[in-house]
Amino acid sequence: MRWEDRLDTVRDDRRRPRIATSVITRAVAIMFLERLGSLNALKQTKPSRFWPRWLGRAMPSADSIGRIYSLMDAGDVRDVLHHVYVRLKRMKALTPPEHGLMPAVVDGHESTASRKRCCAGCCQRVLHTTRGDVLEYYHRHVALRLVGQELSLMLNAEPVRPGEDELAAARRLMQRALEMYPRAFDVVAGDALYANTNWFNFLLERGKHAMAVLKDNRPNLIEDARSLFDFQPPGVDVDRGNRRCRFWDCDTFTSWPEVSARVRVVRSLETWTVRRQLDRQEEELSSNWMWVTTLSVRQAATRAVVNMGHERWSIENQGFNELVNRWHADHVFRHHPAAILTFVLPAMLCLNVFMAFYCRNLKPEARRAVTTLHVGKLIAAELYAEIRGPPCVSA
Ligand SMILES: [Zn+2]
Repeated sequence: MRWEDRLDTVRDDRRRPRIATSVITRAVAIMFLERLGSLNALKQTKPSRFWPRWLGRAMPSADSIGRIYSLMDAGDVRDVLHHVYVRLKRMKALTPPEHGLMPAVVDGHESTASRKRCCAGCCQRVLHTTRGDVLEYYHRHVALRLVGQELSLMLNAEPVRPGEDELAAARRLMQRALEMYPRAFDVVAGDALYANTNWFNFLLERGKHAMAVLKDNRPNLIEDARSLFDFQPPGVDVDRGNRRCRFWDCDTFTSWPEVSARVRVVRSLETWTVRRQLDRQEEELSSNWMWVTTLSVRQAATRAVVNMGHERWSIENQGFNELVNRWHADHVFRHHPAAILTFVLPAMLCLNVFMAFYCRNLKPEARRAVTTLHVGKLIAAELYAEIRGPPCVSA
């Protein structure tokens, strides 16, 4: 079954629907693939002759699409994401990076914030401003991304519910991911928030390794690591291009005993030189990272841990940033607790499908010649090219 046919399996809670759910899911999939940015922009393409072919009827109103998405079954949309993963896995498109372990990355993302508009699913916080305290409403979700060698996929998202923290949502996300994708990944990487005892033990109990950025939220461990590494020569000292990389690695720490496995700390100090544009002077820059992981030295070499640490940025750079800046996924298509999520999931789905197309269907020469943005515009051009006559003014 093709991925677009799986869109027809998504259901919603309407008792006597006048518009088939598949019409709505297909319209929204095109809205994301064409990066239209809003239901209003989608509505303006209504005269395109593409729509009757794709939907089997005229495009419904923006209001109907938003209303039906607030009644949609998020589980069915997650199943479509899973279907795409299974297809790509069978096609051998999902191979692990060179180190051989398949990492998944978990991270939280705030999609919208407002001081005026709220819904039953909004989280709340008090902002201390010069004019006094202000209540702000926001939506945040936790996402999981699989980081393959050539192709990476957004696997799932889970909203942070009012009153709970990101780790609680991440745990719910991971429980579902372990049921749907039990063998998809070996290690789960996260930022410093995920250097958390319950999180590490939760993953270990389920046969997965944990990895997180080590910062001051584990004061005993980071202090021990700093003390050791500051007086120890690096285990690896190599040049990569214009970067000098020095790595330290130790797995004999006893300063996080609550974790049910031995933890290991890896430090990466990278220095490089840039020439400042303003005065053409050379300036030395550096980045200093530490990660804590349950992966043993036998399971992952120092460089593998460092690479996985850097791969954590994949969810930020190619996941959230791509979805927000180029796919407009943070737009509030309908401010409703369910719709916030049911619009995020198809955005992820379309990003996966698009990247699979870009990586698998385009020859390397074509990929070198054009950017993903250019290919996205070519796809949108097909929709606009089929618009005939004056601009549409109907709903
Ligand atoms: Zn809300």
